[in-house]
Amino acid sequence: MSGTERGYLDVDGTAVKIPYTRVEGRQAGPHLLVTGGVHGGEYPGIEAAIRFASMLDPRTLRGGVTIIHMANPPAFYGKSQYVVPLDGKNLNREFPGSARGTVSQRMAYAVFQLARHADAWVDLHGGDIHEALVPFVIYSPLGNPAVAERSRSMAHAYGISVLVESASLEGGSYATASLNGIAAILAESGQMGQLDEAAVQRHLDGLFRVLHLLGMLDHPGLSEIPPDSHRVYTRNLWVHAPVGGLHYPAVRVGDEVRKGQIGARIQNEWGEVVAEMAAPSDGRVLFQATSLAITPGDPLFAVVAP
Ligand SMILES: [Zn+2]
Repeated sequence: MSGTERGYLDVDGTAVKIPYTRVEGRQAGPHLLVTGGVHGGEYPGIEAAIRFASMLDPRTLRGGVTIIHMANPPAFYGKSQYVVPLDGKNLNREFPGSARGTVSQRMAYAVFQLARHADAWVDLHGGDIHEALVPFVIYSPLGNPAVAERSRSMAHAYGISVLVESASLEGGSYATASLNGIAAILAESGQMGQLDEAAVQRHLDGLFRVLHLLGMLDHPGLSEIPPDSHRVYTRNLWVHAPVGGLHYPAVRVGDEVRKGQIGARIQNEWGEVVAEMAAPSDGRVLFQATSLAITPGDPLFAVVAP
């Protein structure tokens, strides 16, 4: 039956309630899942999910859309970077989750049950509270080739020119989805705990382009971006902090770097350099930590290469 329904998704065995909207179109078609706020400090994706839900009209939609406005309310209200504060786990490393696990694992399980009923999934992210990044879309080549191809075409349609094809799994949304037969992309727009309007709009435009690609909506009124403007990277190399201390970036996001070039320095509280971290490859800096404070194991920067 067509219409719009809103409510909270209960996460069994926890007090977590996840706000959602479900829009069922008058005409039959595919089902799309959209998730905002898997990381609670990535505000543009949350705002885009909320607005997208209010912009869909069951009279013109073919198929259905489920929008999770904020997948991780404990992290959002806790202003927590990377992790769910209740158990210290990164929700985007826990898919497909577990019905009997920790809070994060149960949240991942609840969200992934929705993904299992979807034909496609767009997971909205951005730089976290202390992260800067170049907007990009990431997808997985794993699993059924037809599903991977659909993910690839969604990534190309989104309207962001930087694409990362990542074959790693690690419990991430898009890779787990792909292995389970669900076409999926993870789109990164926005950064550093800011609600930036251009970043919100970039996500909204991407979502409407995906609806158009899937045949769920006509005439989104958005121009195509030329296919030859896309840059596809298949290597995504992270550099992590070997020690804690004060962090001084030596490159900026978007920079082209050479292998061996120093990307970040860590100093102790007396200002002495205790670690210098080099770029592991020629490539482009896509992501960077922006906090002065760094603890061992924290991601410092990522370099992508073709
Ligand atoms: Zn994220």
